[in-house]
Amino acid sequence: MPFDKNQLLVEEDTNPYHIVQRQIDQAAEIIGLEQHVINILKKPKRVLSVSFPVKMDDGSIKVFEGYRSQHNDALGPTKGGIRFHPDVTLDEVKALSMWMTFKCGVVGLPYGGGKGGVICDPRQHSKSEIERISRGYMEAIADIVGPDRDIPAPDVYTNSQIMGWMMDTYSRMKGVFQPGVITGKPLIIGGSKGRSEATGRGCVYTILQALQMKGMEIKNATVAIQGFGNAGQIVAELLSEAGMKVVAISDSTGAIFSPQGLDVNLVKQYKNTSSILDYHHCNIMENPEELLELDVDVLVPAALENVITKKNAEYVKAKIVAEAANGPLTPAADEILFKKGITVIPDILANAGGVTVSYFEWVQNMMSFYWSEEEVNQKLHTMMINAYEKVTATANDYAIDLRKSAFIISLKQVAEAMVARGWI
Ligand code: GLU
Repeated sequence: MPFDKNQLLVEEDTNPYHIVQRQIDQAAEIIGLEQHVINILKKPKRVLSVSFPVKMDDGSIKVFEGYRSQHNDALGPTKGGIRFHPDVTLDEVKALSMWMTFKCGVVGLPYGGGKGGVICDPRQHSKSEIERISRGYMEAIADIVGPDRDIPAPDVYTNSQIMGWMMDTYSRMKGVFQPGVITGKPLIIGGSKGRSEATGRGCVYTILQALQMKGMEIKNATVAIQGFGNAGQIVAELLSEAGMKVVAISDSTGAIFSPQGLDVNLVKQYKNTSSILDYHHCNIMENPEELLELDVDVLVPAALENVITKKNAEYVKAKIVAEAANGPLTPAADEILFKKGITVIPDILANAGGVTVSYFEWVQNMMSFYWSEEEVNQKLHTMMINAYEKVTATANDYAIDLRKSAFIISLKQVAEAMVARGWI
């Protein structure tokens, strides 16, 4: 790698809020978006900061802090997940709500973006403590959410059970059954078939499309997956079903690697019973971050933000990077990968399957009429492929990367809605 003095002098700004603002600026410049439109979109419309007491199992009281950010509701109610994580910050939640606006815009959903977060580590709490944290948070944000205002969903370290508790709290507060206030619920209380796999499934549709467009063989194509939560597991499962070889998987405890390919189902079993590191037929990677630099066809960052930055982007060897996580690449990394000819399927497209099936869930809740899994997956497939084709066509028109293209498509949508409503 050529020596670049600037790389040593200037540390990269990895604040996700600044990153999304920069992404907006870059895309807006290409289409000459007016400055006042940019100014509106660079900040969330409403941010709520809450703190609430929760009784712990030992009788003590702990105060938790959380946020809910609603970015822009020109296209419809705001929509986006709730994350439980010790590193949640207000800027992160704001950024994630902004990415949600653009994610919904790329797929063409009638939503704006929202996001929530609670600073906590669910791995340190019992199920009953997590239930009380979930109910306490919903109670604290209930005034600003609702089926036609702002609709939360699962995100990092939250799941369908948590959505069920939150829906119950909201419904009790309002005195009416309100399944449409939140998506990703258990099936029995208004969840949608296919929702729990949707983020991973949608991501797989985009990966297969990218392989095809690059003229690459699917059979035996190699893949490395960083993060083995909901999205990472489904991506691993479906890609190996499609004939690809999952050669590396990591989670927060470490990374495993096997050039022959890992047995994904077995890795899943180890994850659920002990640790992925107990899987025998593989090498344990001493430095889990090196997974990102493996010589594979497809790399899937499926964990958290800022994992490929100016520091390691030069060493990425994958031909396709599919962002199952939100915000895993920084703008500097984007630039480096683009120059290297690597196709990056941006988060707002690659992981849009989750919110797409959330939208289906909300529609089904409104109708009280439920679809089969085949119907859901078929509709998801159609929407993901349409979005993928639109994004690649725009990228070709402007000779830009897929992220800028996806942002352009969304910016136009949101701006048009704001004009139609007479805001600008
Ligand atoms: N948390 C997911 C995301 O980042 C899903 C959001 C939703 O379903 O509303 O896209």
